Amino acid sequence: MKLYVIGIGPGGENEMTLRAARALEKCNCVAGYNLYLDLIENLLDGKERIQTGMMKEVDRCTAARDAALSGKTVAVISSGDSGVYGMAGLMFELCENYTEIEIEVIPGITAACSGGAVLGSPLTCDFAVVSLSDLLTPWEVIEKRVRSAASGDLALVLYNPASKKRIDHLMRVCDMILEYQSPDTVCGIVRNIGREGESFELMTLSKLRDTQVDMLTTVFIGNSRTKIISGRMVTPRGYRGV
Ligand code: SAH
Repeated sequence: MKLYVIGIGPGGENEMTLRAARALEKCNCVAGYNLYLDLIENLLDGKERIQTGMMKEVDRCTAARDAALSGKTVAVISSGDSGVYGMAGLMFELCENYTEIEIEVIPGITAACSGGAVLGSPLTCDFAVVSLSDLLTPWEVIEKRVRSAASGDLALVLYNPASKKRIDHLMRVCDMILEYQSPDTVCGIVRNIGREGESFELMTLSKLRDTQVDMLTTVFIGNSRTKIISGRMVTPRGYRGV
């Protein structure tokens, strides 16, 4: 039996790959966070839904596994890519002892790529991705990873930059990066990528430090060569020797 773990990209069906859309067609049961299911509502006609709130990932994925065991063709949906802070890893763990289930992971456009495209081309060279959520990762580990990226002059993408309970995480991270990088480092924030109300803003690292963001935002911090060209954020690859 088959269980699909599908990354649907950042927004609605327009942001999905054809492979993801075709796999979804084959399914009669779909599990996912309500917001993501609503984004692709047009593709879910007649399909059973397994939906729970944001904090119920394990329950939802267990229910998806059990639905697959009962003979349904199930899709577990993540926004962006299902392997990047998504459900793919958890599904492998939950299905470890159910060898009859074959898991197919279908990649999607992660926020680093879709948000990067909105800003311009901030990730042309080496970059790192760090989530600022300390729900599942200790804060000290997050700090260590951010410092490693900043000391290596990697461009940096921050997922989960803030929540209602974590209002000062971005400020703390910027203060660490300021130990290695100039306050004028080019940064960008993108909100609601691929969704209604999509918006972006470019700013310096020192301004980013004092900016409030929310969970629907992805943050980009350039490397030492990142610049603004025609109002967009660009990290040069180096072709022009500048
Ligand atoms: N699997 C997702 C990431 C989930 S973690 C992916 O690959 O994109 C959730 C974080 O991802 C959010 O807090 C935000 O930082 C980022 N994110 C995901 N979708 C987004 C969108 N449409 N617009 C802006 N940020 C987004």
